[in-house]
Amino acid sequence: MATDLVQYQLYIDGEFRDAEGGATFRSTSPYTGEDWAELAEAQAVDVEAAIDAARRAFDDSWWRRDHQRRAQVMRDFSDLLEANKQRLGLIGSRDNGKLVREMTGMATILPRFFRYFSEVADHIHGQVIRGADPNVFGYTLREPYGVVAFQTPWNSPLVIFAQGGAPALAAGNTIVLKPSEFASCTTIEMAKLAHEAGFPPGVLNVVTGFGHVVGAALCSSNKVDKIAFTGSPEGGRIVGAQAARTLTPTVMELGGKSANIVFADANLDKAVEAVFAGFTASSGQSCVCGSRALIEAGIHDQVVERLADMAKGLKLGDPSDPQTQVGPFCTAAQLDKVGGLVTVAKGEGARLVAGGQRPAGLDGWFFEPTIFADVDENMAIAQEEVFGPVLSVIKFDTEEDAIRIANNSVYGLAAGLWTSNLGRAHRLAAELRAGTIWINQYRRGDAAFPFGGRGDSGFGRQSGEDAILEFTTVKSVQVDTSV
Ligand code: NAD
Repeated sequence: MATDLVQYQLYIDGEFRDAEGGATFRSTSPYTGEDWAELAEAQAVDVEAAIDAARRAFDDSWWRRDHQRRAQVMRDFSDLLEANKQRLGLIGSRDNGKLVREMTGMATILPRFFRYFSEVADHIHGQVIRGADPNVFGYTLREPYGVVAFQTPWNSPLVIFAQGGAPALAAGNTIVLKPSEFASCTTIEMAKLAHEAGFPPGVLNVVTGFGHVVGAALCSSNKVDKIAFTGSPEGGRIVGAQAARTLTPTVMELGGKSANIVFADANLDKAVEAVFAGFTASSGQSCVCGSRALIEAGIHDQVVERLADMAKGLKLGDPSDPQTQVGPFCTAAQLDKVGGLVTVAKGEGARLVAGGQRPAGLDGWFFEPTIFADVDENMAIAQEEVFGPVLSVIKFDTEEDAIRIANNSVYGLAAGLWTSNLGRAHRLAAELRAGTIWINQYRRGDAAFPFGGRGDSGFGRQSGEDAILEFTTVKSVQVDTSV
């Protein structure tokens, strides 16, 4: 054990403990390149212990039976998250390299998920139903599944967990959570707060480690009742195949290639600012990164010029410096992937109007915010998820064109729409194939709205009251009153 590193253990059955055999792995700061934390590296046997603890908590504790008490613990948890948001923001930034400002922003919206769903816990109900036979009536019960396995990616580990974890807990499920090996520390910090809030042992368990070991053990277990996976489509396919063997239901939040569509009648100042923030925020490492800008022909050239100007003079650097506007990538692999896609785009003939390379004078995993114009909708840069600050600008002539181009994607996570024409806004909202449509705004998260995708962006919904349907199963009770 390295004594100069912050130590993190697994959280299983209400206890913090080392992994079986004492294996550990490290968190490396994406900015300094230095290891700063050491984490327990769970093995299959630890995953098994966590699943068993979650099962016992589900079967034997008061958790699934007492919704009022459950709601109170969730409210207390929410208060603790609120009190710790600055600290969680700092640790989060150290872990995944995103700006402290961005990670603190995420930590600020986090408590709302648990508070919102603590209230929902109070009114989860079924229906009263009359059967064909007049003597028969009945009702449905919405019941928790049991043990839910969560897997989260590295970009926004806590809020992504909360979108599904808060409704799953509110419904009375118990959880085994595996964060990404690249950013696990805030999840263990969150577990400490859950412990303090009084969740019964086993209701929330956290197992840190690698996807092919911990994720695989979780997703192939026949003792898990539901799997909630957030990550890449490739990861989703692996997990889906594992879950198919045990016929375990899944909900998947995967990648995106979201379009921000700007019509000439939009408030252009607001639209250009949001299009810019939509692809540069989190250095583009966001599932809802607005990586395609569809711009109406009449305003196309001026919008491209304004976006290119905004990209010049951006401050890249230390994520903890409040002046920094763009931070590093979380991993070196991400830097290679983004660089590779940018090279392909140049080769395909997209016109580079800003960025396109690693910034001079910065050693870390940085890439300049990059804008391509004259992008054909079928080019790789317009089709593949980059997960970096790279924008493809595509010109369109008519409303029909805009819809067709926006829907020309295997993804269907989100879309932004900028117009002052109310009728058009609602027409497009109906036609666009995506789980979320933001009109005259972009990238706003809210616990009250369902979130999820279509196609390679996944299926099922987390967040919003629809998430209660996602994390409950329905039971039919029929009564023969003639007996
Ligand atoms: P990833 O698919 O590499 O990893 C996600 C999780 O799966 C991690 O916890 C990882 O350890 C685990 N995993 C990896 N291999 C596994 C295996 N063989 N079996 C079981 N689990 C395994 O994704 P990532 O690189 O961490 O995150 C980036 C991706 O996530 C992007 O595609 C992004 O769009 C997507 N994402 C989606 C949303 C959303 O809500 N739709 C939100 C954030 C990120």
